[in-house]
Amino acid sequence: MPPRKTDKVHGRGAGDKMVTQISVDPQAAGAVAVYLVEAASEEESRSLGGFFGELTACVTVAQLSRGRLTSYAVQTHDPDPSVLDDIERALGSSYALVTAQRSFDSVIYGIITELSSTTGSKLLPIPHCNICGRPEPFPDTLITLEDASGRAVMSRSYCGRCAAGLVARTNKGFILSLLSADRRNFGGIERSELVRSRGRGHGLRYNVRRPGPVSGVRTANQVARGGDGTLDF
Ligand SMILES: [Zn+2]
Repeated sequence: MPPRKTDKVHGRGAGDKMVTQISVDPQAAGAVAVYLVEAASEEESRSLGGFFGELTACVTVAQLSRGRLTSYAVQTHDPDPSVLDDIERALGSSYALVTAQRSFDSVIYGIITELSSTTGSKLLPIPHCNICGRPEPFPDTLITLEDASGRAVMSRSYCGRCAAGLVARTNKGFILSLLSADRRNFGGIERSELVRSRGRGHGLRYNVRRPGPVSGVRTANQVARGGDGTLDF
């Protein structure tokens, strides 16, 4: 495992951000498929973009590569995976479908990475789990660290395996466990207290209060008292 990155306490200089809120968006967990297509031309690659673009009404789409090897990952919104068959059939009848796989894993991503390199295709950035480091186009949980005005300071993504491996009895405990297990060292954020606040959309939202005696973390309370320890980045 690579060394954990440790955040240092900065002064309040330009660029430092203070985290006072955390919002959490659990993501839908439907069936996943990956489609690799050999595009004969740039026009065909664009046409594939149109094909997958139209699907976004009923599935979540993540493009993995563009060019000669054009590849996409798709996640269904509901447990019925039959739409994935429909997509495979439609691609097979109109394009040179290289392969379709009913899951996303490091092996298929390795193949896509290699084929993109050998065909001069562009590998597009996708989220990686901030605990295990695996590429994950559809993270199980997204956590956004925000400043007092609600602006995102940093986003963290976690895969289903890592999220499932944590033992927590409450949502707050779950969030703190994820941040504690994160490869980035938040300096003892697991000892902070989360107070539920009004959420936006379907996500959960918390104010960060009374963090432990940790470097890099300072709550709104402590800021008001002029104390040390805000989560600065
Ligand atoms: Zn993970």
